[in-house]
Amino acid sequence: MQDFIPIYIHSFESLATRDGEGIRFGIFLGGCPLRCVYCHNPDTWDMRATKEYSPEELYAKIKRYTPYFRASGGGVTFSGGEPLLQAKALLPLCRSLVEGGISYTIDTSGALPLDDDRREMLRMADHIILDLKFPSDEEYRKYTGGSLSPVLETLAHVASQNKKIWVRTVIVPTINDTTEKMKKYLEVLSPYREKIEKYELLPFHTMGFFKYEKLGIDNPLSHLDALSLNTRDALENFIHQNF
Ligand code: SF4
Repeated sequence: MQDFIPIYIHSFESLATRDGEGIRFGIFLGGCPLRCVYCHNPDTWDMRATKEYSPEELYAKIKRYTPYFRASGGGVTFSGGEPLLQAKALLPLCRSLVEGGISYTIDTSGALPLDDDRREMLRMADHIILDLKFPSDEEYRKYTGGSLSPVLETLAHVASQNKKIWVRTVIVPTINDTTEKMKKYLEVLSPYREKIEKYELLPFHTMGFFKYEKLGIDNPLSHLDALSLNTRDALENFIHQNF
């Protein structure tokens, strides 16, 4: 009988340099409780379409990159999908990482209510990347299908733990691409201003559109173009000046 809970993984990205500091080993977990209208990874939604691993198998894969992590200040990034959906299954791996001196980052929507397993996985992480997808519950529900309150709870929780925190927002043309909207985001984030190291805007792009076609699912934003560079630059300037 298996003495572990299988971890469902969509894909890996070794020697990555995004989603954290230094050289990363990215693990994209399967399954997500949200259905963001702008999602460019709808192929991660269905956990059954992913592959199962044991914590030992994963640790063996990751350990080989230790020299790169040490030389660059890097580590593992759990992304997705939603990594905290599989917190219980991931905890043994997270413990092995900590014991092996390998730090990890959690890239999360924060949309799941915190339970003991999720708190423990967050506690052992060095770095949290949290999405603030929309600044009001009404918009959050409309565009993601989830609720804003667990996100705010997760933000308050990690801020109280003095971790490195980055917050991210995807900027989508016609939905949240104005400075008026940015003010709303900053209102939500302002109590945590001192705790947030970086607030990043991610431009909406169309590179994931083909996945909707391949999966035969409706793409609610198929009529949109990618965010223009001018708009992105203007909003980034606004954030730098006001946050
Ligand atoms: S949280 Fe991420 S993976 Fe899940 S639907 Fe939203 S954008 Fe897609």
